[in-house]
Amino acid sequence: MPICITCTTAVDFLYTVYESSYNLRLEQCTNCAKIADFYVEHDALTLLIDLILLKRGVYRHLLYNRGAEPRRSVSGATVDPAAVRRTATEKEQMRWLTVLRFGGPLIFLDVFIRWSHLNPNQPSNVSPWTRETLNAIFRTFVGVTVETIAFHVGVLFACYLVLEIADRIGSRPTMSDIRREFRFSLIPLTLLYSSLTKLFLLFLLTIWQPSPGSPPLRSNLYVFQLFDADEIDREWVVRNVLGGMSAGFGLRVVLDFHPLFTTVIIIAGWVAKTAMSQLVSHWAGGDEQMGEAWLAYSIP
Ligand SMILES: [Zn+2]
Repeated sequence: MPICITCTTAVDFLYTVYESSYNLRLEQCTNCAKIADFYVEHDALTLLIDLILLKRGVYRHLLYNRGAEPRRSVSGATVDPAAVRRTATEKEQMRWLTVLRFGGPLIFLDVFIRWSHLNPNQPSNVSPWTRETLNAIFRTFVGVTVETIAFHVGVLFACYLVLEIADRIGSRPTMSDIRREFRFSLIPLTLLYSSLTKLFLLFLLTIWQPSPGSPPLRSNLYVFQLFDADEIDREWVVRNVLGGMSAGFGLRVVLDFHPLFTTVIIIAGWVAKTAMSQLVSHWAGGDEQMGEAWLAYSIP
């Protein structure tokens, strides 16, 4: 069942379609009287920008409302419960497919960022497609993939434990609509959506690196000095601090839990990812020195 993106109350339909599919009317939420989901009319670019800006509504739209059947204003039309059940199963399969379809390109983007970070100052007059480079990119790809899977498995396992404990101690006597609609496939999807913010910023840092030999940009402002490349590893901060915060934000939307619980879940994911990084860093880096660099970049 779809939900209102403002107050998370379950609604029967998000919009009504009239004679032509271009003629539609957005439904109002019966609880808060706002439009249940205005993202229905928005294009992919707007959704992407709002995902990067960490807007709660777009998460709710993509996780719970995407693909919801509209009300059709044809006289005599009834909703078959079996059809709704089929749709729910199909929705679940669709989500796992989206995880794979969306996760693949994001991993490739992460591989590019990671490889550029570990191999800076590549000569521009030499073709990057040498055997050694391709080998290094492949190792980075395997390393990033297993780390990502370890993080997702760690978070999934921690989510399962936290939900079990919450149910056992009965801390949630009234189950909210968002919790009733919860499926475990939403977790990896949320983590992928929330990783967009950090990947977007890391990509910008990768393509806008200062050229070698150029003087470092100095500022008298203390805040900017904090983010000076000499003072702090900006990419590490974006990857781990911002990445952790945005993942926690995403999990709060989907689990409807106190931030303390989502922080514990993210830490569990980090522990799993760190354990995997320790295992693969030497191989993925290529040698001992690069392995150390890989590990320093990976672990929180
Ligand atoms: Zn509402």
